[in-house]
Amino acid sequence: MDPVLLKLALDARGFLPPQEGLALYEEAAARLPGGPALEVGTWCGKSAIYLGAAARAAGSVVFTVDHHRGSEENQPGWEYHDSSLVDPEAGRIDTLPFFRRTMTRAGLEEEVVAIIGRSAVVARHWRTPLSLLFIDGGHTDEHVAGDYEGFAPWIQPGGSLVFHDIFADPADGGQAPWRCYRRALDSGLWEQAQHVGSLHVLRRTDDGPTPRALP
Ligand code: SAH
Ligand code: MG
Repeated sequence: MDPVLLKLALDARGFLPPQEGLALYEEAAARLPGGPALEVGTWCGKSAIYLGAAARAAGSVVFTVDHHRGSEENQPGWEYHDSSLVDPEAGRIDTLPFFRRTMTRAGLEEEVVAIIGRSAVVARHWRTPLSLLFIDGGHTDEHVAGDYEGFAPWIQPGGSLVFHDIFADPADGGQAPWRCYRRALDSGLWEQAQHVGSLHVLRRTDDGPTPRALP
């Protein structure tokens, strides 16, 4: 990975540990020559630098979806709240300006395209085959299953489905992403490719049409 972008990714605010970020980059660099990628869960753009670096290397593009109001665990009084991200006028978290600064600094404004809104609303209108889907948005069953059902049908043959925050042991973290990941595996539609920390990569191996139905 470009050392300047790697340094910016390491320094960016966010939740992706270095080894997981590099694994995401490697996976994206291999897949993105085949088409665009989509990320659910932008936050301040840390993972978007890894994906954007791969998009640049591959001559491709990354769409990143977020309402920029933070997840449940980012709200005041919760474990991952950061009061410096609150917009005083709205009285709510707004990570959009931080994301934009991250992308400007990285020079990735051509490669990373922000979509600002709830993932369910965007998914309802999504019609583009994907080389890679990165699910790192809301961590409730409703959100993670909605992201899977909304966007994973659009992963094209040979494309990757990447989940973040997969914890087999409840002592390590919330179980909703794990349940969704198990559901994907049990469907037989994906093959396990690799995992680094809580980042798990599945691959679509069949040659059928896109979109396809998910059980
Ligand atoms: N990928 C980021 C971390 C994402 S944190 C990084 O590398 O640091 C999860 C993000 O998902 C938050 O920014 C939150 O606003 C967003 N999110 C949660 N539920 C969402 C939903 N239903 N629609 C859109 N974004 C959502
Ligand atoms: Mg995450």
